[in-house]
Formats: sequence, structure tokens, C-alpha cells
Amino acid sequence: MFSSTLIYGVTYHGSVPEPLNGLDNVYGKHISADRLRSHLTWLKERYPIVSLIDSLRKVRQGRRPPRQAVFIVFHDGYRDNYDVAYPILKEMGLPASFFLTTAFIGTGKRFWVDLLDAAVKYSPRDRIEVETRTSQETLRLDSMPARYDAGVKLRNTLKPLADSIFQDRFDRLIAALGFDFPDQIPKLGDHENCLDWDMVREMSAGGMEFGSHTHGHIICARQDEATTRQEMTVSKEIIERETGKPCEIFCYPNGYYPQDGNEQTDRLAKDVGYDYVLYMVGPYNLINCNSFKITGLAMGDGDGIDVLERTLSLRRYLSRRLKGSNIWPWSKDSLT
Ligand SMILES: [Zn+2]
Repeated sequence: MFSSTLIYGVTYHGSVPEPLNGLDNVYGKHISADRLRSHLTWLKERYPIVSLIDSLRKVRQGRRPPRQAVFIVFHDGYRDNYDVAYPILKEMGLPASFFLTTAFIGTGKRFWVDLLDAAVKYSPRDRIEVETRTSQETLRLDSMPARYDAGVKLRNTLKPLADSIFQDRFDRLIAALGFDFPDQIPKLGDHENCLDWDMVREMSAGGMEFGSHTHGHIICARQDEATTRQEMTVSKEIIERETGKPCEIFCYPNGYYPQDGNEQTDRLAKDVGYDYVLYMVGPYNLINCNSFKITGLAMGDGDGIDVLERTLSLRRYLSRRLKGSNIWPWSKDSLT
């Protein structure tokens, strides 16, 4: 038995060979190979980089992980995790954990955010009328910067919608952008593709770890209990069947607290058999034998070493502790 140990979590999503901009990479979600390599090199020189699942397993046995260790995770299950991130990790001898949205693995299914960004990028219209909460608004699509702004605005309008109205609003929006159905929308590129199970098995044999990111990328806190339970169960079963290894960690889509996951959904995850839940609310984890909630902070292609350094600053962590502020949960916005 030991008292809590501080470990840091860093979260990535896609990873691409060359930097992507604009609607191809909103919020820098796909980190470029050079940026990822620079992050990992900087981290490796300063911190012990540990395997998340393996470390947590040790913690449950009462063993202390290295102090100020860092774990690295990737959300969603994009194919470029295999093409770009995996070779870099392997070459540098670093472990990482990948959280798979199982309905998308090996199926060609596209995430709605990618469909939306592609629809805005390739829309034949030069303006569209959209409904906001209060009124009709005209969004300009007459230049790529205007399309980017429109895309971000539409994403932010759709993201908080309840599931009961989401699909209808999404379909109407796609129609307003000039597409009769999603299959008509050209792809943004190869970076939209997801992993298949052979890639997952190869990465697993190569020392990478896998956990669940739901089956259909649902926002758990907005679902009824039966749906969330089903998503947590099905994805766990599929990952265990396909990898032949236990699936011990559940990672929330979007990852914020309490709008995406909360005490109620945490309880469901525990009930379904997960040992840990992973959020994306900040970098700091005080891990001990009773830990159940883990968090890693999202880093994007726009985040240089300065952001990484500021994010993991021990002084910043200690000052928050000394001020008595709750270090969990908090967002990157509150870091700046
Ligand atoms: Zn996700």
C-alpha cells in the first residue's frame, strides 16, 4: 500500500505523415509525424514513459509506478495510428494505449465530424442558411477561410445536441450543403480511415495496448442507461475477442466531465467490468490503489513543446494544490 503518486497523461487522436490544415484538421486533431516525434523526444528525455494499462495493473497490486511518469494515449482508432504513430513509437521504444471505437474498426464507417468537415469543404454552395438556437443564420462558404469558420460553427452547434434531434439536424444540414446522403460526400483523405483488426493485432503483438472508446462514439452521459451499458459491453467483448487480451479501460468520447461522463456512467463502466475510466480533462493523475478515474490532456498539431512543458509543469501543479484547488477535473483552457 502506498500514498498517491503523481503521473501525467497525454492524449492524441490521429497522426499524419505531413501537417494538415483547415477543414482537413480542425483543432489540429491529427498530429503530424514531425510534431509527434518532437513531443515524444522531449518527453522521453525528461520523464519515464510508462505503459498505462500495465502501470495500472501494478498499482492494483500495490506497486508504485515511477513518480512523474507519463503515459501516452490515442483516441478513436484512426488508421494513421498504424501508419505513422506506431512506427515512431516502435523506433523510440515507447509504449502507448489506443482506444478503439469498435463500430468503425475495419468497417469503412466515417465519424460525423469528418463527414461534416468534408461536406463543408466540398459543398457546391457558396452560402447556406442554417438554424441556430434562436434564428436563421447565413453562413458564407465563398472562400476556404470562410468555410473553415462555418465548419467550426456548425460542429459547435451540432456537438451539444441531444441524440433524439441530432440525426435529423445533421441530415438537414448535409442537404443544405448540397448532398442528398452522406455517401455522396467526398472523403477528406486517407486520414479519415480507421484501423482494421489485423493492424490492431499487429500493434498489440508489438507491445501496444488497447481499450474501449465505445462502439459507436456515443456521448455516454446523454444516453439512457441501457444504451450506455450496451455500448460499453459490446465494445469490450469485441476488443477482447479480436485481440485475445482483456479490455480493462473505458475511455469516454469527448472526454469531458460531467457532460460526457459522470458518476453514473462511471458506475456503469465498473459494473460492466472495466477497471478504469479515462477522461480528457487535464494531465494530472494522483494514482493510488483505489483509483478508478484517469485523465490525459489532449494535445494537437498546433501545440508546440512550450505547451507541453507548460501543461506538465510541476510548479503549476503544486501551486494549484497549494491554493487548494481541485486538480481534477480541469481543462486545458484553464492552463493558459
Ligand atoms: Zn473520440
